Amino acid sequence: MPDTRRIDGKARADRLVADVAAAAVALKAQSGVVPGLCAVLVGSDPASQIYVRNKGKAATAAGIASFQETLPDTTSESELLAVIAKLNADDRVDGILVQLPLPKHIDPQRVIDAIDPKKDVDGFHAQNVGHLWSGGTALVPCTPYGCLMLLRDTMPNLAGAEAVVLGRSNIVGKPMAALLLGENCTVTLAHSKSRDIPAILRRADILVAAVGRPEIVRGDWIKPGAIVIDVGINRIAAPGGQSKLVGDVAFAEAQGVAGAITPVPGGVGPMTIACLLRNTLIAACRRRSLAEPAV
Ligand code: NAP
Repeated sequence: MPDTRRIDGKARADRLVADVAAAAVALKAQSGVVPGLCAVLVGSDPASQIYVRNKGKAATAAGIASFQETLPDTTSESELLAVIAKLNADDRVDGILVQLPLPKHIDPQRVIDAIDPKKDVDGFHAQNVGHLWSGGTALVPCTPYGCLMLLRDTMPNLAGAEAVVLGRSNIVGKPMAALLLGENCTVTLAHSKSRDIPAILRRADILVAAVGRPEIVRGDWIKPGAIVIDVGINRIAAPGGQSKLVGDVAFAEAQGVAGAITPVPGGVGPMTIACLLRNTLIAACRRRSLAEPAV
């Protein structure tokens, strides 16, 4: 039975944030530029408010100027598009982050497509998606890029590995598949209509689970020695009327089977915010044709 290594995403994210902060100091000293990130929050969803607040705090701590546009639930799509246009034109702002979900009367894709692709630090604009798949220079979605960083640390040569991504969302699954293909993995993208998912997953040297179903991936679906990246964040009931967070992988069952696995919490989650800061720094440099720091 192999020992299963716990991949410490929190420690890796702390290192990345420190690297971004150091690069931001150097950028300011060399060119006077302070990267800026603006979060756009529409409505009063409490979880979204917490996410936006945390992103703002993390940006400030890394030497990135943090701005916020807070708009009421009643904001129309055209009013939101006007705010995006204003931020596109604002030279202090290098990254625009529209917190999802948006109220139902607003088409999120229309809003994302209105963001200047050079400021699209979520990497969701069609131009960035296209560059990611065609091997061009893209701003890459934060969660899958964070997963890739953890994978690179764990398996320095990913080429030729059999990689299975469970989940095909535009935010996680699809860009994850593109990144793994870029690393020369053999990539399978599985989803709710896939037949015999356990058999597909048992082929995986690298397994990325991004489904949003608590512990759907059982221990005997994992190939012995596989690296497992668990993106899922699911809140479930715990004894005593409490609740707890679990991933999409049955973590206890994976022990002794997987070669390495990310915990939930403390795995992929912290990498997402760190990669958002990294993207903002990179966007600030690219927009001004300055050398990109190697972070
Ligand atoms: P999503 O948009 O709901 O997509 C879920 C994907 O899983 C879909 O492709 C769906 O297939 C597939 N799926 C659903 N049920 C399935 C099943 N029973 N068997 C196989 N595939 C199934 O979710 P998401 O935005 O990608 O997020 C996935 C999870 O990651 C969630 O728990 C979310 O909270 C978490 N997340 C974490 C972070 C982080 O920072 N750690 C960031 C983003 C998301 P179909 O396409 O066929 O419907």
